[in-house]
Amino acid sequence: MTSSAARVALDLTADLPVGSLEDFYRDLHRHPELSLREHRTAAKLAGRLRAAGYETAEGVGGTGVVGVLRNGDGPVVLLRGDMDALPVTEETGLPYASETPGVMHACGHDLHVTWLTGAAEALAAGREAWSGTLVVVGQPAEETGEGAALMVADGLYRRFPRPHVLLAQHAAPGPTGMYAHTPGLILSAATDVDIVVHGRGGHGSRPESTVDPVVTAAYLVTRLQTVVSREVAPRDPAVLTVGRIEGGTRHNIIPSEARISLNLRTQSHDVRERMIAAIRRIAAGECAAAGCPREPEVTVGNSFPVTVNDSETDRMISAVHAQVFGAATILDPGPAMGSEDFPRLAEGGLPYSYWFVTSTSPEQWAAAPGNDLMEKFAAVPSNHSPHFAPDTVTLVPGIRAMVSGALACLAR
Ligand code: ZN
Ligand code: ZN
Repeated sequence: MTSSAARVALDLTADLPVGSLEDFYRDLHRHPELSLREHRTAAKLAGRLRAAGYETAEGVGGTGVVGVLRNGDGPVVLLRGDMDALPVTEETGLPYASETPGVMHACGHDLHVTWLTGAAEALAAGREAWSGTLVVVGQPAEETGEGAALMVADGLYRRFPRPHVLLAQHAAPGPTGMYAHTPGLILSAATDVDIVVHGRGGHGSRPESTVDPVVTAAYLVTRLQTVVSREVAPRDPAVLTVGRIEGGTRHNIIPSEARISLNLRTQSHDVRERMIAAIRRIAAGECAAAGCPREPEVTVGNSFPVTVNDSETDRMISAVHAQVFGAATILDPGPAMGSEDFPRLAEGGLPYSYWFVTSTSPEQWAAAPGNDLMEKFAAVPSNHSPHFAPDTVTLVPGIRAMVSGALACLAR
């Protein structure tokens, strides 16, 4: 049985301007912009929303874009796409590779903006088929975890209609044309922590007159590995990764400090608090053991919340996707250790659905070593890789996924 939302979605997306959307996507890919500097991207998105008949505002929460289409009685549905790129040097060799040195759309947010644009245009063109209000959000600074909170703080829901439901989708590795839905916890929380170890500097030939912070930092990195393995229950997913260790300037100088930057992934508040307490305790203990002249500084930095889909909403969207794309294209991967700041747009407990659209090019998928899905999945370039290159064949399906999801929530 095909629902009317699925039927209407296929209808509204039967005749998309594919050439124009591909050009739009390639242009965004060529001109990536870092978090909170998405000026060009925002202007391109706003221009198309305005042309499609949306009341459009720019500069919301920095570089955010909001388009509103009021189309009679019915629910307010918010569609979100993030816009920022990453400090990664592109190595895809694509003809439309980044022209900005050291910056790349390595997470597919260029694809998200294109999906959002195509969906907003199709829903505006087909407005006789639904009623309600659409709020289309181009969000800045997802990668730094700042953008959603900045938009809310800038009066997103005072200046524009407050949604009844929010929808967002993300490009992911995997053979094109799969829709990953998890009706509950889908992404983990992330927390950055910085540690400064204070030693006493001096000549490399006279360790007896110093306290070496490099050796203490090395012990600390090793000891921190026991937080997940020895202090967190096996049933609680958790990751602790030390991504940066820094100290010293030259072979024969013992520096006076060393710095460690680490990142936590957790799925519950209690586990997060327990890990942060363990990090503080271990840092203080290692520094005391080494005889450091001062206690270490432990600073909790940027964080991302958990992403928990409203199960009723997510099941409804996944059902419409099954009708549009076929039941075999829907999978439930369960919770991942990745993170998103999208839930901060759902302030006050608004229900939302967030899903993944697989987008590895057929060539990359075929070339990946391995025989089964999991082996190939591990081998293809993932988000944030300099080789991440979502295929343009996912443009139309991604737009269809967004349009059908919106129609499932809107009135008819
Ligand atoms: Zn990313
Ligand atoms: Zn992303």
